[in-house]
Amino acid sequence: PVVTRFAPSPTGYLHIGGARTALFNWLYARHHDGTYLLRIEDTDRARSTEPAIDAIFDGLRWLSLEGDEPATFQFARSDRHAEVAHKLIAAGQAYRCYMTQDELAAHRAKAQEERRPFRLNSPWRDADAADQPTDAPYVIRIKAPRDGETVIDDLVQGSVTVRNEEIDDFVLLRSDGTPTYMLAVVVDDQDMGVTHVIRGDDHLNNAFRQLAIIDAMSSIEGWERPTYGHVPLIHGSDGAKLSKRHGALGVDSYRDDLGILPEALFNYLLRLGWGHGDDEIISRDQAVAWFDMADVGKSPSRFDLAKLQNLNGHYLREANDARLAELVASRLEGADRALLTQAMPVLKVRAKDVNELAESAAFLFSQRPLELTEKAAALLTDEARDCLAAIHTRLSDEADWSAELLEAALKAMAEELGLGLGKLAQPLRAALTGRTTSPGIFDVLVLLGRDESLARIAAQAT
Ligand code: GLU
Repeated sequence: PVVTRFAPSPTGYLHIGGARTALFNWLYARHHDGTYLLRIEDTDRARSTEPAIDAIFDGLRWLSLEGDEPATFQFARSDRHAEVAHKLIAAGQAYRCYMTQDELAAHRAKAQEERRPFRLNSPWRDADAADQPTDAPYVIRIKAPRDGETVIDDLVQGSVTVRNEEIDDFVLLRSDGTPTYMLAVVVDDQDMGVTHVIRGDDHLNNAFRQLAIIDAMSSIEGWERPTYGHVPLIHGSDGAKLSKRHGALGVDSYRDDLGILPEALFNYLLRLGWGHGDDEIISRDQAVAWFDMADVGKSPSRFDLAKLQNLNGHYLREANDARLAELVASRLEGADRALLTQAMPVLKVRAKDVNELAESAAFLFSQRPLELTEKAAALLTDEARDCLAAIHTRLSDEADWSAELLEAALKAMAEELGLGLGKLAQPLRAALTGRTTSPGIFDVLVLLGRDESLARIAAQAT
C-alpha cells in the first residue's frame, strides 16, 4: 500500500510551493488508494513557531489537504532519533567523532590550500573504542560508504547516480544530543511506513545521504528504501526562483487578500508542473483519477497570477450563491446575507475574486445620500436630473416591480422621448449605485426593490 507524507518545517507560513507538494502527495495517495500523512518538522526550536504551525493546518484545511491521520510532530520523537544513531554505532555503521571545531577548520583550510574539495576524513572513523576520551564532547557521524555509487530511480528525475566518495560522513546526532534533519527525516519516514517521498528537488542531494542511513539500518531493523519523486521548484514569471516579488504569498493571503477560492488554487497548483493533455479545468475527482508522477514535468514551472485569477473567475461562477454570500458578507460590514444570495447570480458573472465580488455588491447596502464616484457625478447633468425626475414619475406608477415590466416601461419611455435606452440607463445607474458600472440596470432595480430604488432616484432628481 502506498503511504505518502507532507513534511513542512513550521518556520514560515504555508507557501505556494509547500501547498503544491502537499497536493501532489495527497493526489498520489488517493490515486493509489493509499494513505497521506502529515509531519510537522519542528526540530529547529529557534525558528519553529506556534503561529506557523497553525497557519499550516489552517491552509491545509482550507484546501482540504489535511492528513489522513493526526499529524506527527518531529521534535517529540527526538529520543527515537537518538536511539537509531546509537544502534548504528553498535552495529559499526556510525561513530563518535571528537574532532573540535578548530580541527575541522584546519582540515578545511588544508583542503583549500591543496586546491582539492574538502572531504571530511575523521581520524575517529576507525578508531579503537579503547582510545576514545570519556568526557569530551562528540558528534555521531555516519560511516558513509566510500566505494561504489548510489543510484536513485526518481519518479520525476529518472535515474540519478552519485559516486559514494562524494558523500561525506555527515552528522547524525549533534554534540548536544539533538538529531540532525538528515537523521530525523529518515527515522520518521521509516516509522510512519512512508513508501513514497514526494518533495521539492532541492532535496534531491539529501536523498543520497538519507539512503546511506537507510541502507545502514537495513540489516539492523530491516529498513527499506522508499521511492522518490523530486519535483522541480516553482519559478516566477521571469524564470527566477519564486519569491514574494512574484506575488508568491502564504496560502492564507490568497484566501484573505486576493479573494481566491480553494478549488481554484487547487486546480491551479495541480496544473503547475503536472498536466493532462490540454485540460485546464480539472475537478478534484478527475485529478485523483488521472494523477500520475510520470506526467510531472522535469523543468521548473512558472507561477502566473493572472492565470490563477482567471481560474478563480471560473470557479466563482460555478460556486453556490449562499456560500459566496457568506464570503462576501465577511468583507462587507452589515451586509444582509439573503439579499447577497439573491444578488449573487448577476454579480458573480462579472467578478474574478471575492474582493471584486464584495466591491460590486457594496451598492446594495449604501446609505442615502449615495456617495458618487467622480464619473457618476459627471453623468448627472441638469438634463440627466430632469430625466431622473421623469423616470421617478413613470416608475412610481408601476405596481409590479419585475425586471420584465420595468424594462418595458423604460423602453416605452425612451421611445416617447426619442432617446436611446442608454440615455436613461446611465443616469439611472449613477443614481442607484453611485457608479457607472453595475449589473444590468433592471436587475439593479429589482435587487434594490421599489421603495429604495425610488428613494435613490428621487435623491438625485430635480
Ligand atoms: N521539512 C523539509 C522542508 O520543509 C521537508 C523534508 C522532506 O520532505 O523530506 O523543506
